[in-house]
Amino acid sequence: MKARIAVLPGDGIGPEVVAQGLRCLRAVADAFGHEFALTELPFGGAAIDLCGDPLPESTLKGCLEADAVLLGAIGGPKWSAPEARVRPEQGLLGLRKALGVYANLRPVTVHPALLASSTLKPGILEGVDLVFVRELTGGIYFGEKRRDAHSATDVCTYTVAEVERIVRVAARLARQRRGKLVSIDKANVLETSRLWREVATRVMRAEFPEVSLEHMLVDSAAMHLIRRPRDFDVLVTENMFGDILTDEASMLAGSLGLLPSASLGEGTRGLYEPIHGSAPDIAGQGIANPCGTILSVALLLRHSLGLAAEAAALEQAVSEALASGARTPDVAASHDRALRTEQVGEAVLDRIRAG
Ligand code: NAD
Repeated sequence: MKARIAVLPGDGIGPEVVAQGLRCLRAVADAFGHEFALTELPFGGAAIDLCGDPLPESTLKGCLEADAVLLGAIGGPKWSAPEARVRPEQGLLGLRKALGVYANLRPVTVHPALLASSTLKPGILEGVDLVFVRELTGGIYFGEKRRDAHSATDVCTYTVAEVERIVRVAARLARQRRGKLVSIDKANVLETSRLWREVATRVMRAEFPEVSLEHMLVDSAAMHLIRRPRDFDVLVTENMFGDILTDEASMLAGSLGLLPSASLGEGTRGLYEPIHGSAPDIAGQGIANPCGTILSVALLLRHSLGLAAEAAALEQAVSEALASGARTPDVAASHDRALRTEQVGEAVLDRIRAG
């Protein structure tokens, strides 16, 4: 097949990990006979340096014309001064909005070879395979904000339609997996959560009777996630709860550098990025873990291009590379056995080529 992919390397380690993601994408194209047109575009801090705008018009146009967007990471101290009026993060919010992506999928699997990389006991982690579906465009992050000398207010709003559409995304995913959906809220306190719970119950009963639904309070979910993570299949939650819980869940895998994400809306176009940031502390050293980005490429193949076999082949290649010991310092068994970013990319490539 032919597809157009917009590539936004971004800042810090973004370009380093994206370079490995692109090598893998090209190798998949060669191995399976596809033609991917890749267009690199400036975004984030790099775009501010170039033209004063984190999301230049030409970059936005390129993303809207593409079948999928691959992003590295944005931000860094250079653009974070409190008085800065233009910030890389504005570009990301603007891009998500323009693409209409409201569902953020974050799969968390624990690779058997990396059980020792997590701070949790291996016995708790074995067999963990869950996906978070975080609502991305509503809730308290987007509500009205007020401030006076004595108080500050952030308004949290959810509409019925917003809850319905995110629950449907999560339920469809659960149906393809183990058929278990946990909906996370704070319905004992928040009105938006009571609405969330009612709508989730109604949608699931009417449209997905074959998927089991459990409601869980967010505080309880935070606890159960590290107490019995293996029991979870798909978890759906609102924007801020999802923001916090997905960072917690990332530590099940052992490193932020391992985990991919997909942001989806209606239709197939999506935005794919590793869950980590631009990691200024290790940028330029060639030691960033590229696996989160390479696995984001696999999500892109699956969700935007409908190439399930290619996605599975790439995921398998990453698993085999990690199992063979090809690891950056964040997950290496010992410091002297750690590889560099491009060596890990090379190890994944070898396995794709070997088919
Ligand atoms: P971060 O994710 O960049 O880094 C947190 C820690 O994890 C650091 O010690 C870093 O070295 C390590 N780490 C992250 N990715 C890694 C990888 N691939 N391999 C090995 N180690 C890795 O978070 P932060 O330090 O809080 O933020 C740095 C900048 O990134 C900030 O400007 C922040 O706003 C931005 N940020 C951007 C995004 C995004 O682009 N979507 C997301 C989060 C943070």
